[in-house]
Amino acid sequence: MGQNIERLIRLVYKGWKSRHIDEGAHLDEEDMAAFLDGRLSIEKNELVKDHLVGCHSCAEVLGLSLQANALGDNLLPDPLLNSAKEALGINVPVVVEIMLRLREKVVEVLKSNGDVLVGQELVPASILRSRNLGDFKDEVVILKDFANIRVKVSVENKTGKDFNVNILARDKHKKAVIKDLRVTLFREGVELESYLNDSGSVTFEHLLLGKYKIEVADLEGNLATVLLEVKL
Ligand SMILES: [Zn+2]
Repeated sequence: MGQNIERLIRLVYKGWKSRHIDEGAHLDEEDMAAFLDGRLSIEKNELVKDHLVGCHSCAEVLGLSLQANALGDNLLPDPLLNSAKEALGINVPVVVEIMLRLREKVVEVLKSNGDVLVGQELVPASILRSRNLGDFKDEVVILKDFANIRVKVSVENKTGKDFNVNILARDKHKKAVIKDLRVTLFREGVELESYLNDSGSVTFEHLLLGKYKIEVADLEGNLATVLLEVKL
């Protein structure tokens, strides 16, 4: 089990402990760890899920910790986050991580947990890790699916030292562009620009190299967070 997971479990357990004087039949640290790690037997897994559905305290503690974790620097591996999210029925904003390198006229993908569109071919994140993709064109397109939306992040190399990034979200089932989104760009915790997406896509232009956070939200709250790092 990864360090991040263990840290999460400790957090969950601490939160739980502080709320439950009577330890009764609540989930313990081991149960939660094994649940998140997918190590439980089918039978035990069902029991844990049943408990989480019925016990607001445990679900809340786990949900809040997942949410805090998803927004912090220590990211849970996606499959774990998704399975926990599904099991709990909570709407945790999902994170797209993208690390790129600009070279004269091309954009190189160093890391991504989304699928990358190379020409007409969609390369899944899992394959991306095990494959040397080499040079891309001056634009790279990354796609990431969430519960009901598909977020498309396009990064275009402008001069080799600055870039444009475009965000577009579609309804995954109807394929229609979602128009009432707010997209906000942060750099080092400072909000730089924020747009209400009434035309269907938002572009931030001439950004300098560095680490950015882009939040995609609908009226009910945060849907997705894009963590984008672009370097030379
Ligand atoms: Zn409980």
